[in-house]
Amino acid sequence: MKNPYRFGAFRLTSPYGERVDPVNGSVKDFHAGIDLVGIDTKEVVSVSNGTVLRSRMVTDKNDPTWQWGNYVSVLDPHGNTIFYCHLEKRLVEQADRVHVGDPIGIQGATGYVTGPHLHLEMRNGIETFDPADYLSIENRVGVYGKIEVPDVYTVKQGDSLWSIADKYGLDLKELIVINGRERNNTTVTGWNLILKKTPAAAIEKLWRDTIISDRGYWLSNYSKYKNVGNLLLAGAKLHVKGERCKTPEEGISALTRMGLLNDPDFWLAHYPEYDNVGNLLRALGGCRTE
Ligand SMILES: [Zn+2]
Repeated sequence: MKNPYRFGAFRLTSPYGERVDPVNGSVKDFHAGIDLVGIDTKEVVSVSNGTVLRSRMVTDKNDPTWQWGNYVSVLDPHGNTIFYCHLEKRLVEQADRVHVGDPIGIQGATGYVTGPHLHLEMRNGIETFDPADYLSIENRVGVYGKIEVPDVYTVKQGDSLWSIADKYGLDLKELIVINGRERNNTTVTGWNLILKKTPAAAIEKLWRDTIISDRGYWLSNYSKYKNVGNLLLAGAKLHVKGERCKTPEEGISALTRMGLLNDPDFWLAHYPEYDNVGNLLRALGGCRTE
């Protein structure tokens, strides 16, 4: 899905196409675009790469585009022109290059409107086409658009940490820190990265990396024991599975050397009281960060 409100939810209030009179069923007019209202944000971003053709406000009422108020049009690489209309504020200028997700403007109520919304119109040549189809949403009134952030993301070819952070609206520095990637800003296809700093996300990652084998056990048990959630989050910084350490004590000292445990004495004292945590320490201690 392409989202003109970046990651936020929005409401489609008026679909593309013929508007039918609810009383007598006759066709009232043709709506050449879709009307959208941002729910989480009013910032409108580009849904395509391309070049800004126009960024302006027409006030001469002999020019029918005055109805659009403040508007921006962008020519995409397929020859489609995308019009973002009724903006309160325009954030690009004519001839600017834009990419998907770049700010275009702030939703507003300029031009011929009854309330604040974005009229999004698309044309190929002089023909309009259905913008809902372009966005991969339904051309009907409803709420669309919130991007669900998964617990764990498996890196695909062409991804970078930056592009992943951008796609899900995450802070890049935070993403690097929770995944222990401070020194290595490149990505490798197949890496599993946690996108949420939660023990459940860490468990999912460690399971996908085959470092732990019983995801269900840890999901239902980690919270019973003090600090095991933090131990799992520390483990999310490990990427290369290795040989298990022979003893939990060895695991504790390996994790401490890697800078992942700052309270080894706590674990030395308490792991025997916790079911399976000794095995977890052996497994994590055998892994490497790079
Ligand atoms: Zn409209």
